[in-house]
Amino acid sequence: MAQISFPNIKISRDFHKILEKALDGYLPSKKEATVVLDRSEKELSSLLLVAGQIRDQEKGKTLTYSKKVFIPLTNMCRDRCGYCTFVKSPKEKESHYLTPDQVLDIALAGYKQGCKEVLFSLGDHPEWRHREAKEWLEHLGYSSTPEYVMAMSAMVLDETGLLPHTNAGILSRDELLGLRETNVSMGIMLENVSVRLLNRGGPHFGCDSKEPSLRLNVLREAGKLGIPMTTGILIGIGETPEERLESLLAIKGIHEEYGNIQEVIIQNFRAKTKTRMYKKEEPSTVDMLRTLAMARLVLGGSMNIQAPPNLNSDACQTYILAGINDWGGVSPVTPDHINPEAPWPAIKQLSHLTEECGYNLRERLAIYPEFLCDDLSAFPPALRKAVAVKIQEVGYNVETGRDVL
Ligand code: SF4
Repeated sequence: MAQISFPNIKISRDFHKILEKALDGYLPSKKEATVVLDRSEKELSSLLLVAGQIRDQEKGKTLTYSKKVFIPLTNMCRDRCGYCTFVKSPKEKESHYLTPDQVLDIALAGYKQGCKEVLFSLGDHPEWRHREAKEWLEHLGYSSTPEYVMAMSAMVLDETGLLPHTNAGILSRDELLGLRETNVSMGIMLENVSVRLLNRGGPHFGCDSKEPSLRLNVLREAGKLGIPMTTGILIGIGETPEERLESLLAIKGIHEEYGNIQEVIIQNFRAKTKTRMYKKEEPSTVDMLRTLAMARLVLGGSMNIQAPPNLNSDACQTYILAGINDWGGVSPVTPDHINPEAPWPAIKQLSHLTEECGYNLRERLAIYPEFLCDDLSAFPPALRKAVAVKIQEVGYNVETGRDVL
């Protein structure tokens, strides 16, 4: 067993034992994770130290990011989350569905800047709430928003070779199957497993798509279909520390069963004007660090753990200390449409701040190397050529598709 000592930090025997076991690759049980959860502020530094070491043991001194172009296909949605500024109602002049020409123009701008990922991020089935959305889709010949995403991701893949990754909320098995033909991976934030957050006054009141069991089910169905998924939790929206831990454990459980979680995002809530939650206190950097380190312990060294660099830009370097190994998608072309007030750092700047902490910045694809099979014929036909090209562009081993670093 790994022997560790923390000079000048007094930590409990139980906690010490859990940290030692974690360094040996053992994932803490729920009971052990609860011990970690209850640690005092004084013991935080030992938790961070171990989380960073677990990351180093498995991932080395490399942090990754994906160079992407962001396509907000529609900002209408069937829901109204208490923190969301992205969503618009058809009555607001900024509400839109992007036309195929607009989609292609954005994708081509990304292609010209060397992007490799096209992120389709959009509201959840707006046609279930808004007559205008339904009519717009029917006018173009589509019966649902996911069907329109399928057509747009096929078009972008065909015209530009960019690799699509879709976040479209709750998707049925058939919708996942359809999108799988042209998407290298997909995403849905779990956010939190607490049904309490759906109560009146909560962030997800009246938001059917935020029912945790539905979101877990999408991750499970995707697992059965072999789709690599990005998921994560949103912290500071009114959940308790225990509910945060439960959420991480739920993600861990799905990954243990299906092996399809390619990345877990820990995202901090931001209080924004014109939302129901504009007065709510944002989570502190310490809260974020504690959650990141907890995620690293619970999910282990092999999981890809991401925190966005733009949502706490002054302190994002400290996330490296807490065990992250990825910065997520960064676009040199399009803003973060979900958080337009928080611009992404330039890639050069991201590289600099990563190197200042003693790590290298490495570009990755929208599908992580460990999810690239040796035989590219396992990909749907429409994706094979584009995946092969992007593997070469990003410098993965051409024979195996995996990273050589
Ligand atoms: S489901 Fe997504 S897009 Fe819709 S309101 Fe909630 S956060 Fe906004």
